[in-house]
Amino acid sequence: MKSRRDFIQKLTLGAGILPLAFSFTPYKKHQYISDVQDGPVLKVAIMGLGSYGNRVAEAMKDSKRAKVTGVISGTPSKIKEWQSKYNIPDKNCYNYKNFDAIKNNPDIDAVYIITPNALHHSQCLRVAAAGKHVICEKPMSINAKEGQEMVDACKKAGVHLLIGYRMHFEANTLEVIRLRNEGEFGTVKFFQGLAGFKIGDPNQWRLNKELAGGGAMMDIGIYAINGSRYMVGEEPIWVTAQEVKTDPVKFKEGVDETITFQLGFPSGVVASCLSTYAFSYLDKFFLVGDKGFAEMQPSTGYGPIKSWTHKGRLDLPHVTHQTVQMDQMAAIIFDGKKPKVPVDGEEGLKDMKIIDAIFEAVKTGDKVALKL
Ligand code: NAD
Repeated sequence: MKSRRDFIQKLTLGAGILPLAFSFTPYKKHQYISDVQDGPVLKVAIMGLGSYGNRVAEAMKDSKRAKVTGVISGTPSKIKEWQSKYNIPDKNCYNYKNFDAIKNNPDIDAVYIITPNALHHSQCLRVAAAGKHVICEKPMSINAKEGQEMVDACKKAGVHLLIGYRMHFEANTLEVIRLRNEGEFGTVKFFQGLAGFKIGDPNQWRLNKELAGGGAMMDIGIYAINGSRYMVGEEPIWVTAQEVKTDPVKFKEGVDETITFQLGFPSGVVASCLSTYAFSYLDKFFLVGDKGFAEMQPSTGYGPIKSWTHKGRLDLPHVTHQTVQMDQMAAIIFDGKKPKVPVDGEEGLKDMKIIDAIFEAVKTGDKVALKL
């Protein structure tokens, strides 16, 4: 005899339970084959040899279009380690004082800035002045004013400024966007974005306002902001926000612990989002229209991304995000490729304007208008 549990399991897709009204027809999987495998190789110097810098460099080993050719670091022992790991000659190694000299180094086309957030602005300006392309981690800066200066400096220097939005090249994400554009979910009505984790060591730079520019919002909440925009497919026109702080010792003045925020879009869609450093397992996107929905959980972690809609699972094949990102960024720089979701400085700047507005909304309690 079939148990009630069997019955419920049949209705369950991962973490989502399908309403009975929806059909169970599975999707024909759309193939996202890399279309940029051939062409010139982007020679990249990594600036900041920390946790994410290591992850990016490892992923670049599999990239067909990008290669680590240089390093910029303040720690000589790390430079030595990277030199042997990635076969980097002495002439391509720099520290934070002398890296302007990359100007005369033909082995470096671009610098990938992977340092604490508050350093991105000045480092980007120096790389641009040296005439090299800038790839900069998120958040691009710690406010919109700095972000604008970075965009202007790169434009003036005639170099690309690309932000490390790896999800903009991720197959499940692109598939949900494609389905939305094809009207699969009907008229989009609502988005929910949850982004957070429980942060450890209270002495790390992520909890230091001077280096981080804030707290969870700059680091992880930005995924819900950016995700709201690419999942809804519009730019928000207003924001409201509320902050909760349960540990003012760990999360000092200007370092946000938990913020809930709402974004309003021109069509009337509302996004309801959460950013936190205080609890885990928050990595979920939910988009719903009047004909169906898409859900992703995890939605922005390193993957594999799990995704499903009212019709069934998507779960497109996983490829290391940073490998795809670097292949695609080389194609943007060398082939003039236009990505489906932009990763340029202007894209990063929109998120910084929203973060500024969220902080203002928290402070004033007002609904803050946005002009992106
Ligand atoms: P990390 O602490 O592991 O590494 C930071 C590096 O910067 C270290 O090597 C450190 O020595 C160096 N550094 C240079 N100047 C410094 C200074 N004045 N103070 C402290 N460190 C200094 O941090 P991380 O996790 O690699 O993060 C770096 C950047 O990458 C951040 O902007 C973060 O938001 C971003 N990031 C992005 C992703 C993503 O998925 N796109 C993931 C993690 C981090």
